[in-house]
Amino acid sequence: MTDASTKKLDFALSLYPDPVLRKPAVPVETFDADLRATVAGMFERMRASQGVGLAAPQVGLQLRVLVLNPTGEPQDDLALINVSIIERSGPLTLFEEGCLSFPGIYAEVKRPERCTVSYRDLEGNSVEREFEGFASRIVQHEYDHLEGVLLVDRMSPADKARHRAALASLVDRYKTRAAQKSPK
Ligand SMILES: [Zn+2]
Repeated sequence: MTDASTKKLDFALSLYPDPVLRKPAVPVETFDADLRATVAGMFERMRASQGVGLAAPQVGLQLRVLVLNPTGEPQDDLALINVSIIERSGPLTLFEEGCLSFPGIYAEVKRPERCTVSYRDLEGNSVEREFEGFASRIVQHEYDHLEGVLLVDRMSPADKARHRAALASLVDRYKTRAAQKSPK
């Protein structure tokens, strides 16, 4: 079947320090087949990369869209469109985070245990929902992406020093690829 409802876009990951990761994302205005194809493609990319969450800027799109699946079970796929965090609560917890835009780099990040978000679902319905634990952690990490905030900004100075070589090699890799794309 290849009708519009099952169409998926094929996305590559945007890796640090791709400038698209720093640009603030803008709200989705049209809830249509293109949006469904975008979201389906994001889930595909997330799974293929063994991720638990993905934000649109990570596939080169400046849109306030994030997807997550904290359990790996298909029924737990969740797409949050035009999401905003309206409250963060609970104790600050430290948890090791990875990011598909920083392959191989993990760092402990402190975040509040719970968050309440408002968002639109794929049909454009307005939803409010509270997340806690791992799901809340993913939502807050992916939400950072929509604001142009990255794992490297959240890590401690010690972790940043520990990952200096890995971060520098991502920068080199990006520069090499960018130079290949534009031969000037
Ligand atoms: Zn990330």
